[in-house]
Amino acid sequence: MSFIEFWEESLTEQEGCLLQPFMTNLDKSVFGLMNLPEVVKGALFSRYSRSDKSLRRILLDEFIKAPECRFASIVGEAANNGDQLVAIQQAEAFYDRVLIGYGDDSVAELGGAHIACEGISNIASIALVDSRLGLSPLEKSTRYVPFNRKINGRYRYHRESSIMASSHFSRYEATLDNLFDTYTALIDPLLSWVQATTPQDTTTSVRAYNSATRAKTLDLLRGLLPMATLTNVGLFGNGRAFEYLLVKLATSGHEEVRALGYVMQQELDKIIPSFVKRAKTERGLKAVQYLQTNCERTELLAQKLLKPTEKHSAMPRSAACPEDLAQQHRAPSTVQLVEYDPDGEVKVVAAILYPHTEITLNNIKEYVAGLSTTERVEIISTYVGDRESRFHRPGRAFEETYYTFDILADIGAYRDLHRHRVLTQQRQHYSVRHGYVVPIELEEAKLAETYRKALDYAAETTELIASHLPDAAQYVVPFAYRMRWRIKLNLREAYHLIELRSSRQGHPSYRVIAQEMYRQMSAVHPALVANMHFVDLNDYNLERLAAEQRIDMKLR
Ligand SMILES: Cc1cc2nc3c(=O)[nH]c(=O)nc-3n(C[C@H](O)[C@H](O)[C@H](O)COP(=O)(O)OP(=O)(O)OC[C@H]3O[C@@H](n4cnc5c(N)ncnc54)[C@H](O)[C@@H]3O)c2cc1C
Repeated sequence: MSFIEFWEESLTEQEGCLLQPFMTNLDKSVFGLMNLPEVVKGALFSRYSRSDKSLRRILLDEFIKAPECRFASIVGEAANNGDQLVAIQQAEAFYDRVLIGYGDDSVAELGGAHIACEGISNIASIALVDSRLGLSPLEKSTRYVPFNRKINGRYRYHRESSIMASSHFSRYEATLDNLFDTYTALIDPLLSWVQATTPQDTTTSVRAYNSATRAKTLDLLRGLLPMATLTNVGLFGNGRAFEYLLVKLATSGHEEVRALGYVMQQELDKIIPSFVKRAKTERGLKAVQYLQTNCERTELLAQKLLKPTEKHSAMPRSAACPEDLAQQHRAPSTVQLVEYDPDGEVKVVAAILYPHTEITLNNIKEYVAGLSTTERVEIISTYVGDRESRFHRPGRAFEETYYTFDILADIGAYRDLHRHRVLTQQRQHYSVRHGYVVPIELEEAKLAETYRKALDYAAETTELIASHLPDAAQYVVPFAYRMRWRIKLNLREAYHLIELRSSRQGHPSYRVIAQEMYRQMSAVHPALVANMHFVDLNDYNLERLAAEQRIDMKLR
């Protein structure tokens, strides 16, 4: 007997034949949809809120058999792709009626699309992956892919239109070529140094060793890559998230990002037109205007109010001496816990007990406030239980307390940590004002001088261009330069982020940030952080080696 109560839809043989290509089964209460355009899936699900019928019956009566839906031409086997696109557009009015008529804005979350964005700069890729709810990105890795391949004799970086139209164009190209030339020139000597200082041992295969040493080399050199570096990003997301993304892209100060939004709209119009059309209607345009105006006004106000203070806090561009550099590379001062809740422990413990009682939250808090530390620790450790891996994450009670960090670290680390969607993050501009980080390994390999020269030259060019084109100048800034951003996160996400980002295979730039976040949180909330068992506080020579050895085992 099924444990799910289910009234099987009675279908004629002909109906069964009609439905069969679109369902993973015809006789169970749980089934998947197949071979349907995203917009049809969304429209179909949206009818759930207004119909007593089963989904199979809705698909039959309101889509397959409804002439205005043009269902056959949209999904018909005979239709080639071009015909399908035309059919989806022609049937748009029908879908709009179903979608808008039978649900609120969230209906646009019921269908999605995969979009590939290739050859975009890192300014644009960060704008894309800034989305949180509803979008899942994946981006080309600077660790596994060398970024020095040329096309038609030219390095692949964004040639920003306003710079190329200005007198700075040759300096821009010379600076970026110099960064890529330096990156290219340092790969082999650095790889040799990495291999010489970390020789292959008998337990490590040639494959694992080569992969790990190459990854280490590219990790160490990524600081030379400028923001203009072209990359590829794949996005999967729902219609509502895409609509909001399109609005946000249209507000960008960067022409490339606005243009990306425009072409993305054109492609999404072919897949989920009804879900994203509002980004370009009056409503979308007003939203763009609203966001742009507020941003501009706030920036003006901030400049007026804060300019004098900012001048005092400006930092020298490049770091002074090797000791400073080593210090910066591991600098705990770059991570500052600015805010935490002194009542966090009481709140979390109260939230742990809450679902198991019938009294009010206030009464539970009063009770918890009277408990001893030992009693609270017992409640917390019972709730967290025996964590066998970082995947055993504490529950929602840990969302009850928040931490705010101000971070000054290299752009490479920002790019990585920025990917955590559950956090609230805000960044300042990409600039050369906060100096750069030189990995200590480059100093030891005696390659730091060449590295520094390319970064210094990039800084001069950035400042030169910034005096005329401040937004565009950000394309020149290499990933090694430091930037400031803030992270606000709850304790539950802190467990996830710190354990993941301190793990051995992580990049050293963000590993030190995760480790420092752990130390500072432990200092203020020892009982809450005590169960973060999978924080890795060690330093490693070859971060990827253990992961590569695990791959070897799987291959075997
Ligand atoms: C060693 C390493 C290598 C990496 N290499 C690459 C790379 O080559 N290319 C690349 O693009 N990225 C790479 N990343 C980034 C990675 O893909 C994630 O984007 C990043 O780690 C954020 O992790 P998260 O999604 O778990 O965290 P968060 O976004 O903070 O989410 C926290 C948790 O919430 C849940 N969650 C959040 N959003 C969703 C959702 N939409 N659907 C379902 N569950 C959700 C998940 O349980 C998730 O773990 C790498 C990360 C690491 C640590």
